[in-house]
Amino acid sequence: MNAHDSEKVVGTLVAEGYAQVETPEAAELVLYNTCSIRDKAEQKVFNRLQNFKREGGKGKTIGVLGCVAQQEGEKLFERAPWVSLVAGSASYANLGQMLVQLETGDRRVTGLSFDRAEAFDTPFTRRDNPHRAYLTIIEGCDKSCAYCVVPFTRGPERSRTAESVMAEARGLVEKGYTEVQLLGQNVNSYRDPSPAGWDFATVLARVAEIPGMRRVRYTTSHPRDFVRGIVDAMDANPAICDHIHLPVQSGSSRVLAAMDRLYTRDEYLRRIEWIKSARRRYSLTTDIIVGFPGETEADFEETLTLLDEVQYDSLFSFKYSERPNTAALAMGDRISEEEKQRRLVIVMEKQRAIQIRRNAEMIGTIQEVHVEGRHRALEQWIGRTSCNRTLNFSYPEADEKDMVGTYLPVRVTRAGPNSLVGERVFVV
Ligand code: SAH
Ligand code: SF4
Repeated sequence: MNAHDSEKVVGTLVAEGYAQVETPEAAELVLYNTCSIRDKAEQKVFNRLQNFKREGGKGKTIGVLGCVAQQEGEKLFERAPWVSLVAGSASYANLGQMLVQLETGDRRVTGLSFDRAEAFDTPFTRRDNPHRAYLTIIEGCDKSCAYCVVPFTRGPERSRTAESVMAEARGLVEKGYTEVQLLGQNVNSYRDPSPAGWDFATVLARVAEIPGMRRVRYTTSHPRDFVRGIVDAMDANPAICDHIHLPVQSGSSRVLAAMDRLYTRDEYLRRIEWIKSARRRYSLTTDIIVGFPGETEADFEETLTLLDEVQYDSLFSFKYSERPNTAALAMGDRISEEEKQRRLVIVMEKQRAIQIRRNAEMIGTIQEVHVEGRHRALEQWIGRTSCNRTLNFSYPEADEKDMVGTYLPVRVTRAGPNSLVGERVFVV
């Protein structure tokens, strides 16, 4: 999501007459796009700002964008007085105007309101990848997960009109894009604000039906709003990729209630059942938080048994991190850093064993890959399967510019915990 925000910022500024340069050293204006989902990401921002100032940032205009900007607001000027612009994601359409204010004498400018509901409808986006595009369909979040800072940094939920989503998706295909990833903090609660009132399953299906669209992905799904109609839409549209990311966070219904996730373990598993009994085989991935306040050893065990039960194809696991403004800050029974680390390692080791098995099951199958680039050291092409696995393959003769962006059949010959290796097949 942040990567796509940066693409919107670059596009907006280029349209205002700015030019992008190769290195921060060559720039007169440097904008940092930031993440505050966990404390570590936030600390990184302040370290970078410090280093940049020390290493020749003097004389440049420096701005901070994104969630740290939104969260810290004007306080950021105190922590880093050499910063002169602070703006959250809902203000990017105003950046040009804010920069004019700086050029005409203002010392500091901020953009921190959530008034501009149409912020994602940026007419200018400078996409980095010529084949695979991000497309925002919904901004913000109306859930209130007890650990999460997002509702404070990205504001309330705002769905974009289906008409503008479709127009952008069609425009992308016309420009040569064949893969689109629909984005939102909770895409499942998408609701077209125009009278047509499309829900997420409808917009997903319509985007996938655009002639020339080869692959459609989406992130992220909140299990509470993951309805059966989404699986039906996926089953019916081969262009929708074989992958569902369904963040569970914990396997314990008690912890899920404390987190305010609005589903129990059983309700989550019912959704997994829909997915597993679907017509196609879907790759399943998730997010796990270990060490949420009050998570007992027994609760943690339930997360481990959930991993055994679901057999995810991959997951992201995080140590609970305290975030400003969140409800969990007031909860007792903090888990020590060492214990969180211990639990994290156990989750990662268990998942590694599951992934080795899951990936090995793919040996011998033929997968269609979207070629993303060349791994020079390994002398292999890098491809991505519909189920979102990296599948590298050898085929030395080809020219890079002819290969990248194409779709090719590849037979899986080897499997590791995190990726697959294969060879291009010519007769399927
Ligand atoms: N909207 C998405 C989540 C976005 S944040 C959703 O609901 O699934 C991505 C992931 O970061 C979350 O799924 C969660 O696992 C993790 N995360 C969010 N806040 C966190 C915190 N305070 N500490 C640790 N992990 C956190
Ligand atoms: Fe955060 Fe929960 Fe919203 Fe996801 S659904 S962004 S975890 S508050």
